[in-house]
Amino acid sequence: MKLSEESYAEFKRISDEQGIKYKDDVDMRNQANSLVRLVKTLQEGHFEREGWKQRLKDDPKGFSFESKGRNCSFCKQTVWGDIWYDKNGLKCLGCQEAFDTKLFPQYVFTDKKNEKHITPDSLADLCKLPTQTIHGLIRRGKIKARSAKSGKSIILKRENPNVGEVLHEAIKKRRLTLEKKNRDKKLTDEELKNLTGYFDTLIQIDQEQKRKKKNETSPS
Ligand SMILES: [Zn+2]
Repeated sequence: MKLSEESYAEFKRISDEQGIKYKDDVDMRNQANSLVRLVKTLQEGHFEREGWKQRLKDDPKGFSFESKGRNCSFCKQTVWGDIWYDKNGLKCLGCQEAFDTKLFPQYVFTDKKNEKHITPDSLADLCKLPTQTIHGLIRRGKIKARSAKSGKSIILKRENPNVGEVLHEAIKKRRLTLEKKNRDKKLTDEELKNLTGYFDTLIQIDQEQKRKKKNETSPS
C-alpha cells in the first residue's frame, strides 16, 4: 500500500497535534500504513454486514454462503464450508438445523438472563462447578439437555422442574469430594459456600419457586 506524501504529512500533523511521537520517519510511515489497513478491514467488514442485512429483505428467512473461517455466533466454532445468516446472526449448519427443527426454541436468543434456558457451561460457571459435573448429570439423565449436531447443548427450564433437587443432591457429593481432598477435614457450610456457588444458585431457585407458587395461588 502506498499513501501520498500529502497523506503522510497530514498524518504527521495530526499525530503531533495529539502528542503522538514516532521513532523516526520510517516508523511514522509504517504506523500510518497499519492504521489505513485497519480502517480498510473494519470498513470491509461493515459493508459486508450491511450487504447481508440488505439481502435479508429479499430472503427474510436467511441464506447461506461460504464461511471461510468465520465463527458460529451460537457454538463459537470456526466454520469452513457453508454458514447460515439470518436476523439472529451467523450460525453453523449444525446449530441452524437445531433451530429449524425446533429442537432449540427461538427464545434462547432473547432470554439473555437465562430465565428459560441455560447452557451446561453457563450452569457450571454459575455454580462454580466443574463442567464435567454438569455433563455427568446430563449423561445420567438427572438433567435433561437438548443437543444439536454441532455439539452445542441447552438445558430448558421447563424440562427440568426438579433442577433444584438435582443440585441439592450434587452438593452433597461435592462436599464429600472436597472433604476427601482436604484430608477428610469436615467442611463447614461457610467454607463450602466459598468453594462453590451452589448455595447462591439454590437460594435463587428456591426463591423463584416460592414466588411462582405464590403467583399461582394468589388471585390477581
Ligand atoms: Zn454452531
